[in-house]
Formats: sequence, structure tokens, C-alpha cells
Amino acid sequence: MKKHNFSAGPSILASEVIENTAKAVMDLNGIGLSVMEISHRGKDFQAVMDETVALFKELLNIPDGYHVLFLGGGASMQFCMVPYNLLNKKAAYLETGVWAKKAAKEGRFFGDVEIVASSADENFNYIPKDYTIPSDADYFHITTNNTIYGTEIKEDINSPVPLIADMSSDIFSRPVDVSKYGIIYGGAQKNLGPAGATFIIIREDILGKVDRAIPSMLSYQTHIDNGSMFNTPPCLPIYTIMETLRWLKKLGGVKKMQELNEAKARILYDEIDRNEMFAGTAEKESRSLMNICFVMNEKYKELEQEFLSFASSLGMVGLKGHRSVGGFRASTYNALPLESVKALVDAMQEFEKKFKK
Ligand SMILES: *Cc1c(COP(=O)(O)O)cnc(C)c1O
Repeated sequence: MKKHNFSAGPSILASEVIENTAKAVMDLNGIGLSVMEISHRGKDFQAVMDETVALFKELLNIPDGYHVLFLGGGASMQFCMVPYNLLNKKAAYLETGVWAKKAAKEGRFFGDVEIVASSADENFNYIPKDYTIPSDADYFHITTNNTIYGTEIKEDINSPVPLIADMSSDIFSRPVDVSKYGIIYGGAQKNLGPAGATFIIIREDILGKVDRAIPSMLSYQTHIDNGSMFNTPPCLPIYTIMETLRWLKKLGGVKKMQELNEAKARILYDEIDRNEMFAGTAEKESRSLMNICFVMNEKYKELEQEFLSFASSLGMVGLKGHRSVGGFRASTYNALPLESVKALVDAMQEFEKKFKK
């Protein structure tokens, strides 16, 4: 039986996407070869790359002047590529969690890093609001969805300097005004495909402004000039991303996805707020639509493991919270069906009937 997969990443993919990828692994479009055993420079794979880029541009309404790249190295590689390519003197970062801190840490190898605001004082359970983005910074870096803490920046910020966003865990979950960003990047393994590919949406005119020389592989310009084919790209993950975007388009695009995600999040947050055995950990205004974090209420703390086992007996996996938050985390990415969220809510209600004092 297929499990209810709440894993934070790598995470659930639509079953149709997995089936179509499996077919292409056996035989890509009837050419008698696997997508894994053909040249990335041949016409069959080039068609995959072209369609994936075209779907990115279409579904996110990406304006002219931007490029879409697929590289290796994960989102973590972008933590250093961003400052390598863009940081001359100073960069600004919003510190909303561990991933944001890791990004800022790499920035310090290349120049000054100004943390404009941080929610570390409350274990990153909210998104800071009152801060000023310094207009002399080379860029402003944000993490739109904080996968570990379940907080999310759900609007596109206005920034006086190029806005750089790690959207690893909420890309394609809502419409984005790409024109407000210099770079949007992320690992594919949360909302798009298997681990191994990193997407980068980049406005070309922000490049070429740093004084240092940049090694070829770490230079965005190299990858733009070579259409992500400077070296061998992660071909199979890119194929799966294409299938995910075909699926998403068929479903109605990102606006529709946002509606579905809001509906899923609403019923789970409603239950967390109603059921006195549980409590949400993120401040309400900052709650994420993608990672829903909650704990057992103080009075029921000792039942935490019991609830995990109960959920697991009902076919739910990946619900254990990150060790820095504890409790539970239900990742409700695009591919997670509403039925899985309903099953979790039912489990919480059943648990309440059994154990409420
Ligand atoms: C998972 C995650 C990362 C790390 O991605 P890798 O591809 O493993 O490097 C970075 N940022 C965010 C927001 C994440 O959720």
C-alpha cells in the first residue's frame, strides 16, 4: 500500500510523475534507449532540457532577461555561488533559520555580511518584519520557506538591491513575481523531483559586477553561456522535474496549486488549533503552507512517541519533527494529496478520543 508521505525532503512526488519517469528509465519516448544512457548533448535529451526550461518560464511567468539553469551541488552550493558571483563589499541577509545562517556563513568568505534581522531569539518561529534593507548592499538574501521551523514569507518583498531567494521548499507552491528577484534558487528534492538537481532562475544583468576572478564551474555566466551544458547536468532528475511540471500544468498551474495548498494547510492548522492535545510551534502570521510544525501540548508531552507510532501504524511516514524543534512536522508539498492530510487529521482526532484526560 502506498504510504502517506509527509517527508521534508527528499519528499513525495506525484505517482504519475514516478510512473512516467520509470517508463523513461526503461525507454525514452520509444527510442530504444534509457534517458540515463543517452548523451546530454544529443537531440533527445536537449528536448527534455528545452521543455523543462520552457515549462519553468511559462508556469512562473518568468520575464525576459532571466535564465533558468539546472546544476548539481544542491541549494548548499548556491550558498557560496551567490556571494562568489555577486558580493563585492557587503551583502544583507535575513536570518530566519539554519539554512539562512548557512547561506550567510558562506557570504562571509567573500565580504561583509549584515544580518538585517533575525528570529533566533524565538528559535526561528516567526518571520521578522521591521527591518531596513541597506541600499549599499550588493544584494539581500532571504529564505522564503524555512523547512525546519515551518515559517514562510508568502509575499514578494520589495528590495532596493537585488533580491536573492532560497526557495528550495516552496518553489511552485504559489505564484511569484519573478521580476522582483535577482536570483531564485533551490534544490529540486522538496517540490520538484529527486535529489541531484538545483534550479537557478537568474537575471543576467546582475552579473559581471564583482572584481574577483571566478572559477568556471562556479560562475553563473559559464552556465548561462552553455545552457546548463558546460558539464554533464543531472539528466535523470531534470527529466523528473519536467514530468512534475507537466503534471502541475495539467492540474491548472501555480495559482491552482496555491489554492490546493491553502486548503490542505487550513484543515491541518485548524485541527492543531482545535485539538487541545496539540499545539503549533510557528507564530500564526508566519505559518508555512509547506511544512506544518506542531508538538504535543505540555500536559501530553509523554505521548509524543505514542502518536508517532499510532500515525505510523496508519501508514503515515516522515512526521517526526526536526531535532531542533522536536514534535512533529507534516510536509504538505504540492504532490501530497488532500486525502493524506485528512488521514492525519482523523488520526489526531482518534488519538484525542483515546488519550484526552
Ligand atoms: C533542504 C534545504 C536546503 C538544502 O538543500 P541541499 O540541496 O541539500 O543543499 C537549503 N535551503 C532550504 C530552505 C532547504 O529546505
